[in-house]
Formats: sequence, structure tokens, C-alpha cells
Amino acid sequence: MSEEEASPAEEVRPAGRRVVCGKCLRPGRVCLCAFFPPDGPIDTSRGTRVVILQHPMEAKKALATARLAPHVIRRASVITGRRLRRSTVPTDSAREAVFRALDEGTLWVVFPGAGAAPFSEREVEESGTSLAASQEESKGGGVTLLLLDGTWKQGKEMFTALYEDKHDGEAFRRAPLVYLSPQCLQRPLEDAGLLRKEPAPGCVSTLEAVAEALFHIEGRDDAAAKVREAIIRVYDALVAFQRDRGAPHLVRREKDARRDIGKAGV
Ligand SMILES: [Zn+2]
Repeated sequence: MSEEEASPAEEVRPAGRRVVCGKCLRPGRVCLCAFFPPDGPIDTSRGTRVVILQHPMEAKKALATARLAPHVIRRASVITGRRLRRSTVPTDSAREAVFRALDEGTLWVVFPGAGAAPFSEREVEESGTSLAASQEESKGGGVTLLLLDGTWKQGKEMFTALYEDKHDGEAFRRAPLVYLSPQCLQRPLEDAGLLRKEPAPGCVSTLEAVAEALFHIEGRDDAAAKVREAIIRVYDALVAFQRDRGAPHLVRREKDARRDIGKAGV
């Protein structure tokens, strides 16, 4: 959408010399709002909540994708910080939701840390126990997925901070730990992780990770596929805008992915 085509009702605010959409925070000419669900963020059928802990450095990046998730999924939130701690005073609801789920045994951590199981395998192996138990425990409230958003190094630091937390580290270590292996992705590897130069094929952006993780935890049925597609639609639009700009890494990345398919990585 060009700046001229922006709806008059759409909130637009200037940032420096550029005009930025007040909703998706993208420059007006690459506004993503037209790709969000037309009736507002959608509900998932199993009520999974998504909380993204975003490293403060990541929050400053123009191509940070985490902030787009709440525009697509109603129960998605982003918390900016290097660690998560309980607060003695009421805090934002996403933080409370993480600790409530942690206490209930309904929190799943999505990160390729030591001992993490590929999402699909864990679901298959434990379909009668862990996921079902988590969803039962949640009394219809759904499982809470906690994702970490940042560079690989920042992610590891945030993961370590969670796992070694004095008060809640033990509880975090008990929560199911899953990651998205390349086999968990519902699209060819050469079409995944295109936005930035990723360390290996199969590495995906946070927005794609949300889409793929929800697809698995929501039961991989038609409804789960629709949720996934609604998120991927926004991601694909973002990639298309970058490609139109001629972002050089996109071209390189696509070539590399075609050459190296089969290498594992998240
Ligand atoms: Zn917008």
C-alpha cells in the first residue's frame, strides 16, 4: 500500500522524515495492515496463549517480527526484557499468564535448548500424556507457549536466565521444552526463514515459529492450519516487500537454502 493509498482512518504518525503506520509500525509504503485478519486478531480453537519474551535489542530492529503476532492472534503478547521474574505487584497480564501456566503445569517453552524435543516428536510420543495433560490442566484455558526472541546468542542468554532463575528456574526446567526441527515446518525449507540471514536452513523468524508451533499444539487439523496460514500470510507479505526492495541477503539466502537442504538447525 502506498502512502497515498493509506486509508484516512488509519493512524499514521511521522517518525523522523518517514511516515510510519501507527498500527503495524511499518513505513506507510510497506504497511502490513492489509494482511492482518479483516475482523481483528483471531482466536485459536484450543485457546493456546502465545507469549514472546523479546530481547530489548531485538525490539529496536525494523524487521522484528514478534510484534506482528498480536495483530493476528488474539492471545499473543510480547514482553520486552532479558528475563522473566514474578512480580509482587500486579504486572502486565502476559507476565502473569506465564507464571500462572508455570504453576499449573501448562507452560511449554519453545527453544532448542539442551534436552529439547522436536515439536512433532514430542507431540507424537507424549500425545497421550504431556500435551493432553497440559490441556486438561488448563481447564479449557489452553496451553501457554513461551518463545524467546532475539539473536541466537541473546536467546541462549535468555534461556539460561530462565532456567537458572533462583526462584523459578526449577519450575521452568520441569516445563516441556520443545523446538521446531526442519521437519516440523509445514513448508519447503527454501521458503522458510527468508527474512534475515539465518545460521542454517530450517532456522525461522519468530513469527514463523509462532505459526508452526501453534499448528502443532492446536492439533494439526484444518482449524490449526487456518491459524498458521493467517500468520504466514503476514510473514510472506513482509518477505515480498523486502524482496521488492531487492534485499540482497534474500537472494543469497534462497540460493544457500537450495544447496544445503538437509542440514539441521533451528
Ligand atoms: Zn500498518
